[in-house]
Amino acid sequence: MTAIVWLRHDLRLADNPALRAAAESGAVVPVYIWDPEGDGDWSPGGASKWWWHHGLTSLDKSLRDLGSRLVVRQGRSGEILESLAKETEAESIHWNRRYEPAAIKRDSAIKESFKSRGIEVQSHNGSLLFEPWEVSTKSDAPYKVFSPFWRSCLEKESQRSPLARPQQLDGPEHWPEGDSIDSLQLEPQLDWADEFPRWWDPSEKGAQKELERFIEEAAATYKSGRNRMDVDGSSRLSPYLHFGAISPHQVWHAIDQLKPSNGTVKASYETYLSEIGWREFAHHLLYHFPHTTGNALRSEFDDFPWEPSKNELEAWQQGRTGVPLVDAAMRQLWRTGWMHNRARMVVASFLTKNLLIAWQEGAAWFWDTLVDADLANNTLGWQWTAGCGADAAPYFRIFNPVSQSEKHDPKGDYIRRWVPELEKLDTPDLFKPWEASNDALERAGVNLGETYPEPLVDLSETRKRALAAYDDMRGK
Ligand SMILES: Cc1cc2nc3c(=O)[nH]c(=O)nc-3n(C[C@H](O)[C@H](O)[C@H](O)COP(=O)(O)OP(=O)(O)OC[C@H]3O[C@@H](n4cnc5c(N)ncnc54)[C@H](O)[C@@H]3O)c2cc1C
Repeated sequence: MTAIVWLRHDLRLADNPALRAAAESGAVVPVYIWDPEGDGDWSPGGASKWWWHHGLTSLDKSLRDLGSRLVVRQGRSGEILESLAKETEAESIHWNRRYEPAAIKRDSAIKESFKSRGIEVQSHNGSLLFEPWEVSTKSDAPYKVFSPFWRSCLEKESQRSPLARPQQLDGPEHWPEGDSIDSLQLEPQLDWADEFPRWWDPSEKGAQKELERFIEEAAATYKSGRNRMDVDGSSRLSPYLHFGAISPHQVWHAIDQLKPSNGTVKASYETYLSEIGWREFAHHLLYHFPHTTGNALRSEFDDFPWEPSKNELEAWQQGRTGVPLVDAAMRQLWRTGWMHNRARMVVASFLTKNLLIAWQEGAAWFWDTLVDADLANNTLGWQWTAGCGADAAPYFRIFNPVSQSEKHDPKGDYIRRWVPELEKLDTPDLFKPWEASNDALERAGVNLGETYPEPLVDLSETRKRALAAYDDMRGK
């Protein structure tokens, strides 16, 4: 018997339920289909494409080490699966589920079409600890608040152990033809992503290394370290989780195995697992409220008086707002394809509140430039910060980039790293160069308006304007 395993956001051999099930039924044909149209409005952005290119190359190599290979094709997923099923005489098709609205619609149609022709289709859970439909409130409704959602998850059975990596994979007698990964042309044409390989190894091994680094260096102090932008205090596993180079079960299990030496360390492990819980919550929300990718969960925000400005949006995107923490974060994003979580909250608050630019604009930029761009997490993150989503920060909580720098980048190392033209400014001038004396600016070689921009907006004035806009919306 031959089974097709359709690989998508599960670029790994270990703990891969779809691959395991396919292998149990006989010969396996691992398939990847480049089908950006099938993702509807959310086809992969530039940074994601870079990751796909390298992630697929590495997966193909791992499969070849087991005597198998990755059959790559491009086009409409349903049509390609249909012809592959004919070519290989496959009797079953397996995949791990996706939760984005367009993928659910497409996958359901494919399932129905194969079922009606007598080919078995099995979907599996390879990406989440809890299926979105398995968790509900006492009145059988989806959760909109994180704490009770996570409590309810934790009350469920303990997590399964991760599945072992297959030792060998039998292939079909005749392999179907495939396209080369290069022919998909996923790598950016510009030199934009040249630095990415310094920061990321998009392979299953790369994910395990990142997890080991986190456990050795940062997990025990995660509760406080996660907020520091100047240190590597978090796991940096987000792109690996998004592309499935590691599964949440593997992460959960690795942390669960650790024996905390004291209460503080235990609290750090629990906090870390609850962040994995936020990822679960984001998928729960996306599944139950699919319209939130473009519209606020709190519908009153549809009338919010945003003030679009192309110039201000571009200054934010390019990291030249004149507010050092915001610029540092936006440049970190551009150079590495990733941004620290606290920095994400600060730049999202600055865009939606100080600049009054709609959260959808920020979400779209993140979608294109983040290597971990994830429809569930990105939608939740933006709506949370803009105050219009589930369990959101109240709208009037406006992050002050200056006090956020003082608290979470106290020596200014994060800003100096990404905004080198301010390197020589002493703290606290570094956090707010517009208040520095002429002498201090001159000593540091900073000429505001020339070597570094004047602030795009006045933080305190725009804070008041945002609160007035909020009152205006509530008045309607
Ligand atoms: C405006 C905004 C946009 C965001 N967009 C994305 C996105 O597109 N993709 C993405 O993966 N995360 C997104 N996040 C959430 C969070 O910033 C990142 O997951 C985190 O910074 C990734 O770094 P890490 O792996 O070191 O996280 P860690 O602190 O080590 O956390 C471990 C894992 O938990 C999950 N996680 C952590 N925080 C959150 C959260 N708030 N919501 C959902 N899951 C979380 C991630 O999978 C992460 O890898 C966004 C947050 C904001 C405020």
